[in-house]
Amino acid sequence: MAVNGTGNGAMAVNGTGNGTTGPSKTVLVTGGAGYIGSHAVLQLLAAGFRAVVVDSLGNSSELAVRRVAALAGEHARNLSFHKVDIRDKDGLEKVFSSTRFDAVIHFAGLKAVGESVQKPLLYYDHNIVGTINLLEVMAAHGCKKLVFSSSAAVYGSPKNSPCTEEFPLTPHNPYGRTKLIAEEICRDIYRSDPEWRIILLRYFNPVGAHPSGYLGEDPRGTPNNLMPFVQQVAVGRRPSVTIFGNNYATKDGTGVRDYIHVVDLAEGHVAALRKLFDNSSNIGCEAYNLGTGKGTSVLEIVNEFEKASGKKIPLVIGQRRPGDAEILFSVARKAERELNWKAKYGITEMCRDQWNWASKNPYGYESPDSPKQNGSNSH
Ligand code: NAD
Ligand code: UDP
Repeated sequence: MAVNGTGNGAMAVNGTGNGTTGPSKTVLVTGGAGYIGSHAVLQLLAAGFRAVVVDSLGNSSELAVRRVAALAGEHARNLSFHKVDIRDKDGLEKVFSSTRFDAVIHFAGLKAVGESVQKPLLYYDHNIVGTINLLEVMAAHGCKKLVFSSSAAVYGSPKNSPCTEEFPLTPHNPYGRTKLIAEEICRDIYRSDPEWRIILLRYFNPVGAHPSGYLGEDPRGTPNNLMPFVQQVAVGRRPSVTIFGNNYATKDGTGVRDYIHVVDLAEGHVAALRKLFDNSSNIGCEAYNLGTGKGTSVLEIVNEFEKASGKKIPLVIGQRRPGDAEILFSVARKAERELNWKAKYGITEMCRDQWNWASKNPYGYESPDSPKQNGSNSH
């Protein structure tokens, strides 16, 4: 695989992208080196799109992009990467000046709820200032199609589930508020200019990894979420998982969530793009839940992961985590109806693929004996 550093933070991955039968649409993917973004880029390439990734690498590794290229095979010629922070408007402007984009998928941002409480301005800077920069540069270049990574965090802790897109939007923390504010900005720009076509995807709990075991979640520092924590216990990096409360009014007392396989989630982005490019449909600015519609408890996930890995996960019962919802799962019928998308995988596949990734990359992309460090196409 050829990786051409150009000195300005850009690299062309695997070839020139000048094939005679090139893809018809070019998509900018902000945050495309991250957990969800890398899986989505791979699916986009497989679906025949050209993908240009922009990422600061603040919470990710360039190796993720190289592995996407390796997995994409011949489609890798349609992938390029620029190390740019979206808060750097000039940097974004350069990327837009060099390529005409048909649409943008905007993943880039910070996502740790606890950190957002400690450092709200940092979160508003990345998630709001960064988004405004992006929207301004898009508008200046006449690119008015956007898929935005929103979150179930915009719902806060609804009194009951399943949760539809019409539920009140009452986020509990600065992270959730950045997502809601970004959604409101999108609704406002559409109202001001109906040429915009915007899809807001509210993800529930993304877990799992690409079935190859070469792409997955690689959090920096202590994981904030359940699944990466369980994974790190399974590979021996941490002694036990603390269960945040076992006295909820749920089937076994532990919190219930809607876990969704990251490959299903990635497919949801391809479905959203297809909708944006379907001129026969009126989009406006529309929000969709992406979940499975099924609620799974913490204990059920841990049990399933133990089965997949053959490892015992020691558990400690701890206090409830402040602000946690008791039960939160989706109704994803709107996405099924309007985007023609439905999650295919259940928690068995989620845990299987999570373990496959974890066992091959116990320390994430930087694992010493990790496969495909150089992205060579040898799988
Ligand atoms: P991630 O941290 O793995 O990916 C985000 C990527 O954005 C990283 O590669 C990071 O380096 C990059 N980034 C951050 N700030 C940036 C900036 N200012 N400029 C350029 N790049 C920047 O997270 P993820 O889980 O892949 O999440 C992707 C998106 O989905 C985020 O917007 C997140 O809020 C949203 N989301 C995630 C979850 C989840 O549980 N993973 C749930 C709901 C919504
Ligand atoms: N959880 C837990 N221990 C952990 C992390 C999470 O018991 O170390 C629980 C948490 O209380 C919630 C579920 O696992 O019920 C999912 O938490 P996560 O942080 O992954 O997602 P979110 O709460 O943001 O939906």
